[in-house]
Amino acid sequence: MNFILLINGTYIIAAVLFIYGLKLLTSPLTARRGNLLSAVGMFLAVVVTLLNEEIIDYRWLLLGIAIGSVIGALFARLVKMTQMPEMVALFNGFGGLASLLVGWGAYHVIPLAGLFVMTTIFLAVLIGGVTFSGSLIAWGKLSGLIPGKPLLFRGQTLLNGTIVVVLLIGGSFLLSNPEGAYPVFLGIIIISIVLGILVVIPIGGADMPVVISLLNSYSGIAACSAGLAIENNILVVAGALVGASGIILTNVMCKAMNRSIYNVLFGGFGAITKGGGEADVEGEVKAITAQDSYFILEAATAVAFVPGYGMAVSQAQHVLKELGDLLEERGTEVSYAIHPVAGRMPGHMNVLLAEADVPYEKLIEMEQINRQIANIDVCVIIGANDIVNPAAREDTNSSIYGMPIIEVDRAKTVIVLKRSMAPGFAGIDNRLFFKENTRMLFGDAKGSISEIIAEFKSA
Ligand code: NDP
Repeated sequence: MNFILLINGTYIIAAVLFIYGLKLLTSPLTARRGNLLSAVGMFLAVVVTLLNEEIIDYRWLLLGIAIGSVIGALFARLVKMTQMPEMVALFNGFGGLASLLVGWGAYHVIPLAGLFVMTTIFLAVLIGGVTFSGSLIAWGKLSGLIPGKPLLFRGQTLLNGTIVVVLLIGGSFLLSNPEGAYPVFLGIIIISIVLGILVVIPIGGADMPVVISLLNSYSGIAACSAGLAIENNILVVAGALVGASGIILTNVMCKAMNRSIYNVLFGGFGAITKGGGEADVEGEVKAITAQDSYFILEAATAVAFVPGYGMAVSQAQHVLKELGDLLEERGTEVSYAIHPVAGRMPGHMNVLLAEADVPYEKLIEMEQINRQIANIDVCVIIGANDIVNPAAREDTNSSIYGMPIIEVDRAKTVIVLKRSMAPGFAGIDNRLFFKENTRMLFGDAKGSISEIIAEFKSA
């Protein structure tokens, strides 16, 4: 049998499945099927790759597959939805490490590689190394293992710039003298890993999602370079898809936060200590009970729910849907307003609400809800904070100034469900809580909504 033909034919099928799977991922209605199709594509690609006649020993491969499968299955079961961004960061890091190792291996098995192949090996090792260590730092920051605040020091940009120049000089030496440059090659690996750490430590606060998306793109570019180095077509295609989709997502997220990518990478967002840059908030906080909330909601004709990270923490999506249904049964118009960076990962709220069977057409994007918000009687904020903070519009000194928000303060009444006055991810106070039309319903979101539901049922 002609294995090369079979392998490349199956790679084409796998590539089509990846691309079609990506297309299906664009809507929550078809996302599961898209995920499954892409996974089938990857399975086919892995299986036929094992037919490669150049493989001389299967033992290590099978051991790797067994260990990887067990770890993957365990993580899929044990990792909570709220820990997903950390998981994605870790996956990106391992993707980068895999490309680095492929590049390293290729350096040894492709003796006297030509200029093109050696360039791809260099890129796989360089970008893979940066992605690996950068992603580990992002994972540490998101999981709280290392402080999330940006770590800034004098001469940081100069140091990073110098390292890039050193890497480029090392790279040109490697390309001009591949055989005798092994110590230089090892140096490139080490310095790339150091660079990954240095470029992510100054980034913190609310910019981490953008960084993870960017690192995701890097992991794709590294895989693509590794694929070119070892002439593996599916690695080139999969890497290019990840690289391109990661950069598109990065761009979308930057727009959602009104930041440029340069500002995200070098701006040190969140370095201002709490209260330092923000104007003082004036006004009085008005707490209410679940019963008062029921009276307000029951009199409303249009209600918008605005979910945030707290909904994920309290797993309030199912009771929220129940409350929405109860309101609709009484003729109230109900919508769910979605901010692009609500929660801790892109599409976080969409996933949770889809899990609770909230119809997709009820999910309204930020721009659209902002156009109709003045006509909404009650906006109920479920564990959201930064994404509804009017400081983004009103306080030019605020570190989130200019970030588009859901302008709930323009609705007639706002009910905020959260446990305390604690700030959100960006670490800044929220002037929404002090506004005249805001009422605070303190407590775990799921518990508070359940109490309101009980009021509706006993009425
Ligand atoms: P925030 O992190 O700003 O606020 C979440 C709020 O939820 C907190 O103030 C907290 O207040 C409250 N909360 C936590 N647990 C509960 C609970 N059990 N019941 C009720 N309330 C609870 O979230 P937002 O969604 O408003 O904003 C997202 C932020 O995260 C943005 O700054 C964004 O940039 C950033 N980010 C976004 C990512 C993404 O891709 N979407 C990824 C990483 C970061 P309290 O403790 O008082 O209850």
